[in-house]
Amino acid sequence: MTSRPHKESRKDQAHEFVRGLRRYLEQMEEEGTEYLLISRGKDKDPAPAVPRPLAARRPVVAEIDADIRKCRLCRLSQTRKNAVPGEGGMKKKAMFIGEGPGEQEDLSGRPFVGRAGKLLDKMLAAIGLSRGDVYITNIVKCRPPLNRDPKPDEVVACWPYLERQIKLLQPRVIIALGSPASKTLLDTDQGISHLRGKIHDYEGTPLLATFHPAYLLRAYTVENRQKAWEDMKMVRELLSQK
Ligand code: SF4
Repeated sequence: MTSRPHKESRKDQAHEFVRGLRRYLEQMEEEGTEYLLISRGKDKDPAPAVPRPLAARRPVVAEIDADIRKCRLCRLSQTRKNAVPGEGGMKKKAMFIGEGPGEQEDLSGRPFVGRAGKLLDKMLAAIGLSRGDVYITNIVKCRPPLNRDPKPDEVVACWPYLERQIKLLQPRVIIALGSPASKTLLDTDQGISHLRGKIHDYEGTPLLATFHPAYLLRAYTVENRQKAWEDMKMVRELLSQK
């Protein structure tokens, strides 16, 4: 006769079930199905994983996008044509973050659609990724006039949107594109030449810094292309780890 499991034993079984469910969901995410982990409320024990399908995440992404599109928190709202919240999928759990939209992005409301965007597409393709596999966004969501670097107060004003995106999308790897994005995310004054080629930490998430595709177009040397390729191979390596 099988007796009812002791309370502790049932707890162990429940934990084992949750661990199995987590492994199963991670595997499904690898295969392209995405889920959110939600909590049961602060008055209960730390929550086990409770799946919510990707459909449940979309309204939250859309909510952030809508907040960005109507935002007037800094002077960049006065000169933009369109705010550019970001776009892409999270099949590969990677976020690529540039400094701010350029002219084509401002006109279209989409990130990395100009020449730099085409080069980014090629960089992704070189490691077997497509734009739809990763999320692409910027530190500031509105175009700085004449493509100047974002000013510190603009970065401060816009920062909560990026924080919300990162918290929601929970990337496994963050790739900072170019010096301004790398400096902001790593809170450092060091330039991209010092920061690239290493794995940094952004609040527990591995962060790689590499050249901005727009810089690569301006300085399209064999040496720079080789360095960018080394960086992308590191991205591929990180994404291949379980
Ligand atoms: S750059 Fe950011 S903070 Fe400034 S107006 Fe655009 S969305 Fe708002």
